[in-house]
Amino acid sequence: MGLKKNKNALVVIFILFLAILVITIVILRKQTKEEHIPEITESEPELKYGIPVDDWIIIQDTVRKGDYLGTILNRYGISSHKIDKIAKMSSDTFNTTSISIGRIYTVFADTIIDSIPQAKIFVYENTKTKYTLYDFRNPDTIIIRKLEKKVDTVRRSATGVIKSSLWNAVVDKGYSWDIALAMTKVFGWSVDFYALQKGDWFKVIYDELFVENDRVGLENIKTGIFYHNGKEFWAIPFVQDSILNFYDTAGNNLRKTFMTAPLEYTSVSSRYSYARMHPIFHQVREHLAVDFTAPMGTPVYASSDGVIETKTFDTGAGNYVVIRHNSVYKTVYMHLLKFGDIQLGQHVTQGQIIGYVGSTGWSTGPHLHYEIHENGRKIDPLSFKPPPADPVDSVHRERFDKEKQFWIKELNKIKLEDK
Ligand SMILES: [Zn+2]
Repeated sequence: MGLKKNKNALVVIFILFLAILVITIVILRKQTKEEHIPEITESEPELKYGIPVDDWIIIQDTVRKGDYLGTILNRYGISSHKIDKIAKMSSDTFNTTSISIGRIYTVFADTIIDSIPQAKIFVYENTKTKYTLYDFRNPDTIIIRKLEKKVDTVRRSATGVIKSSLWNAVVDKGYSWDIALAMTKVFGWSVDFYALQKGDWFKVIYDELFVENDRVGLENIKTGIFYHNGKEFWAIPFVQDSILNFYDTAGNNLRKTFMTAPLEYTSVSSRYSYARMHPIFHQVREHLAVDFTAPMGTPVYASSDGVIETKTFDTGAGNYVVIRHNSVYKTVYMHLLKFGDIQLGQHVTQGQIIGYVGSTGWSTGPHLHYEIHENGRKIDPLSFKPPPADPVDSVHRERFDKEKQFWIKELNKIKLEDK
């Protein structure tokens, strides 16, 4: 009897155990089910150009050769009358009908009549970030709005060692080529990008712009170091007097200015002009330079920091020097009596003597023929006003040092992998 009682108790416990197990499983299952439900109900509706996609028949295409805004809209049930109206809504600053081949457009239709989707909203992407929205929902008016997509800024860093070229060092590692271009702008005054050497390296921190996870471009380089010619060139960003410039760690501006004249001259004998009578050839020729008259032997200075690109004699130019300052600017000095103590390929600093006024080549008397080339175009040296390149002002010194420490720390975090 006692044994039977015990057996019964065991059965009861077993049944209870089973019941609890089943209930637990059911509850757990229910919970997991319940966990899934809110995800569906609470998830935000998918938007395209801020419009919920679920409510529409959406057609996306690109502008093809021969397409006009009118012909496209006509295909989606927009009447010629309305298309005329759109054309009339153009202003001087906003051409409502201008579209280009290859750009994306999107039709939001609510019905299909005779297999023609009836557009109620039409979106044309002017650029990767800007779009124009045409709203036909109100039968009496057309609303045209110029809008911008949300642009996300993502901070990134890039580093590399030069093996063949800066371009390869950037692109081979999967970075976008525009980072190389931006680097030449930031470091153009200190690093000679035409003479990079194997083993030169860089680290940069930059901001990239994204729209809907697509990279739309480089916003800017925030900071960086470039190692070249055995030296580290740091670019510390700093805003003073509301202008952003890059400085070295000592607070010197990375950009350099140009001397207004590369010598002490007595007069300007010939100005920059597209037509002047040439003193030797007696023909009207352009003179895209300035002639400074000065006594024979007057020192001629490098008008800014740069590299001696040419140092030679030419029948017309006489003894002449070309200095390459960065990827944008070059200066040319002609008719020199003799050269200063300079070598081809040498880095010269602003104010360094590169030669002496003479009258070599086609010249009627001692003068310096001076040219400034901007992106290969000869510009007027007398009206050239390069932006100032002041160092960090002493009143801003404390703030500069603080910000500098921050950027140095950030750059030091970047590991130079394949050095
Ligand atoms: Zn001249």
